[in-house]
Amino acid sequence: MITRFAPSPTGPLHLGHAYSAMLAHDMAMAADGTFILRMDDIDRVRSKPEFEQQAIADLHWLGLSWPEPIMKQSRSEPRFRANIQQLAQQGLIYPCSCSRADVENAANAPQEGVPTHGPDGRIYPGTCRARPMAAFKEGDAIRLNMEKAVHGAAPLPSYLETGERHRGTMQLDPVDLITSIGDVAVARRGMAAAYHLAVVVDDDAQNITHVIRGEDLFDATRIHVLLYHLLHLPIPIYHHHRLIRDDNGKRLAKRDDARAISKYRAEGATPNDIRRLVGLPEV
Ligand code: GLU
Repeated sequence: MITRFAPSPTGPLHLGHAYSAMLAHDMAMAADGTFILRMDDIDRVRSKPEFEQQAIADLHWLGLSWPEPIMKQSRSEPRFRANIQQLAQQGLIYPCSCSRADVENAANAPQEGVPTHGPDGRIYPGTCRARPMAAFKEGDAIRLNMEKAVHGAAPLPSYLETGERHRGTMQLDPVDLITSIGDVAVARRGMAAAYHLAVVVDDDAQNITHVIRGEDLFDATRIHVLLYHLLHLPIPIYHHHRLIRDDNGKRLAKRDDARAISKYRAEGATPNDIRRLVGLPEV
């Protein structure tokens, strides 16, 4: 079993991150496996070296260890480009010059029962769909033509989910992918890959067998499984865990500094105090 924790170093780690990292670590250790730390620093603007250093210090303090050196997503760009090339050869992607405002304005008046938003935000209305990749210009994003992708990839794969809320074999459904996800971005303006492609390519490069992460990513997993399938890569097992919430029931965000691990450390808490707070057995 190879598990991973892959924070984006765009803010301090909080209790929710601690839970995710310790759970992935505990599950790997219980199976005599390996736990990996990766830095998902593909967003060059928001990622900061000081958050990276702080994350490493917090995770060591929690008692976690991992093989060095730590892989950085920002160094995977050649791999991302090769995978985009593969999708291009299958005729599944197109360049998109729409801004966020363009997408909002072009979206049709909502039809009853048809979702307007999916796990990737507003479902793309298809404005640039007919553009060939040869027309790619600097500053364009790249989108997956979902209709072509699901039809070209039939039969669609299933995957195994071992999380608390959803458990069992999950089957990708073509109608669901087209209507509730649509043409997701595989690369964003000025970036070699968008999150969905980056996480798939890097998890595969590190041979991650079990992706353990928060329930907030459960819906996006369909996108990831489809990408594995289109790129002919083995699909990992998924475990989506409960989210750690604040006293008002809201899930913690990076800006919730009050729950930052470093705050608890400074106040004299021990790693086992943190384990108790998030409901993990003490060690
Ligand atoms: N870097 C991503 C994050 O911080 C990883 C999420 C994932 O597990 O796929 O949210």
